[in-house]
Amino acid sequence: MADLTRAPERAARTRDLDSLATLISSCHACPRLVAWREKVAHEKRAAFRDQEYWGRPVPGFGPEDASILIVGLAPAAHGANRTGRMFTGDRSGDVLFAAMHAVGLANQAHAESIDDGLRLIDARVTSPVHCAPPDNKPTPAERRTCAPFLTRELELMSSTLEVAVVLGGFGWQALFGVLGQAGWNVPRPRPRFTHGAIVDLAHPDGRTLTILGCFHVSQQNTFTGRLTPAMLEEVLALARRLAGSTGEP
Ligand code: SF4
Repeated sequence: MADLTRAPERAARTRDLDSLATLISSCHACPRLVAWREKVAHEKRAAFRDQEYWGRPVPGFGPEDASILIVGLAPAAHGANRTGRMFTGDRSGDVLFAAMHAVGLANQAHAESIDDGLRLIDARVTSPVHCAPPDNKPTPAERRTCAPFLTRELELMSSTLEVAVVLGGFGWQALFGVLGQAGWNVPRPRPRFTHGAIVDLAHPDGRTLTILGCFHVSQQNTFTGRLTPAMLEEVLALARRLAGSTGEP
C-alpha cells in the first residue's frame, strides 16, 4: 500500500484532475492537520451532530477545461471539512456561490452538500492547503508540503487557464510561490495583494495568465462590509470578461 504521508510527491505523476483529487483525498502528509481534521470530524458542531463529516483533505472542483481558477485559503472546519467540497456548507460559500451564479459562473446560488446539484461553469475552485487548519492558519511548512497539489492542478489546467482570482493575501502568497516554481515570470519584488489588484504574467512557453486580487469571502470581511456582494461580483465579472468566458449569463 502506498505511503499516504508521501502523497504530495506523487502529484506530478497524476494524469488528470480526477486522479489528482483521489490522491489529495488520501493524503496524510501533515500530522497536525490530519489530527485536527479528524478531531473536528469526530467531535462535530452541535448543529451537525447527525451528519457524517468528510474529515479528509478537500480537493478542488469544477470542469477540467475551465479558463478561470478561484483560489481560496483552506477548507473550513465545519464547512468543506464536513461536506467534502470546497466552500460548501458555510457562510463564506453562500457569498461566493451567490456571486458566481450572479455572473454566470455557477448554475445555482446555493451550496449545501456535495450532491446539491451545483455545477460550476468555466471555473474551478481550489485552495493552496487542502486540509482544515486550526484557527484557519496553516503553517508555512504545511503550505509548502501541500504546494505540489496546486502546482499540478495548474499544470493540468494549463491548456485553458486564463485568469486566477485569489481570495485573500494568504492565497495570493501561496499562488505566487507556486507560479514562480512553475516557471512563470513573477515580478520582483512580488506583487502585493490588494483588493482589485491585476497582475499579468507571462510564461517562457508563450502562455499568459492574469491574476486578480479579491478580499476573502470570510465572515470577518462580509459581515463588516469590507467585502460586499457587489465588490465580489465585480471581480468575478472582470475575470469572466478577461477569460472570454462563454459561461451562461
Ligand atoms: S494540507 Fe495538503 S499536504 Fe497536508 S495533509 Fe492535507 S492534503 Fe496533505
